Amino acid sequence: MLPSVYWVQVSAEFQCRACGHASPLNYLDLDGSVCCARCGLDQAFAQSSWREALEHAHAVADLAGSAEGRHPSAWLSIASENPFKAVTSASHHQSGFAVERGMQVPQSMVITATLAEPKCEACGVALAFQRIGPEVRSSCPRCSQMRGYRLPPNAQSFAPGLVGVMTAEHRSDQPITRVADDRDKPGAIALTCPSCGGGLQVAQGERVVTCDYCHKSSRIPEKTLFRLGGANVQPEPWWLAFDGPSKTRRLLERDPALPADLGGVNSDIQAVQSPKKKRLTPLDLALVVMLPLLCLLVAGALDYFVLQELGITIPL
Ligand SMILES: [Zn+2]
Ligand SMILES: [Zn+2]
Ligand SMILES: [Zn+2]
Repeated sequence: MLPSVYWVQVSAEFQCRACGHASPLNYLDLDGSVCCARCGLDQAFAQSSWREALEHAHAVADLAGSAEGRHPSAWLSIASENPFKAVTSASHHQSGFAVERGMQVPQSMVITATLAEPKCEACGVALAFQRIGPEVRSSCPRCSQMRGYRLPPNAQSFAPGLVGVMTAEHRSDQPITRVADDRDKPGAIALTCPSCGGGLQVAQGERVVTCDYCHKSSRIPEKTLFRLGGANVQPEPWWLAFDGPSKTRRLLERDPALPADLGGVNSDIQAVQSPKKKRLTPLDLALVVMLPLLCLLVAGALDYFVLQELGITIPL
């Protein structure tokens, strides 16, 4: 994977508007609705909630842990305003409502972003990544376990810098169990094997099922876990990969291409002063002073040798 790409660990949840419980968001559920893991209600989810949450994750990945962060500008310093310089993890809490498609949609997402690299589940070593379009392939240097993960097709419209995702629901190398209404039991669902169409028997809490007939395994989509009964979906950490500087960094650097009002994205950051120039380092100063001197010296020496060669002496 290109060196400019970097990962951040996230964990997220939202408050269900029916039962009021916090329900985990363990993947990029960008289709406009989310399902409560406690009561099963499918409810509208604001696009701006994801936009803000993804920008928060990008900002933490880009800015946390050091004064200038990961993508320091050569001339501008953000050290005095970087809100994440002293932390390696930060949460973003949403409240209020967003008006989208003529509807008032509550914003109740809480996302915590932490500087952490994805590791192999089996042996705990850092994974190697390869990026192929919207897909990221991971491989473990020790146990050689390989996996593929794919971003939702509309992910770029939510976060332009988002280039990868790593969590079970986005696996591209594992088929998804087929879900249909159970013809014998009204309201219940029946799961079938995506390879052979055979009926699947699922044990309590099982997420990946192996078919009794063709022995191929498939993953049960998280949104159907509640309908299977006894769903106990817990918040699980997952990972996002970003490329390039975050919007928050560009805001702190007062990028003129950026609108002054980012519409709720990191509204706690005040971009009112003019950009601060970085102080020149001793190395910069040395270059500024020494470079012209060096040029003069070289030109003088050349002149001297050329004149000597031509046998010309300049009377002083
Ligand atoms: Zn609920
Ligand atoms: Zn491994
Ligand atoms: Zn099968």
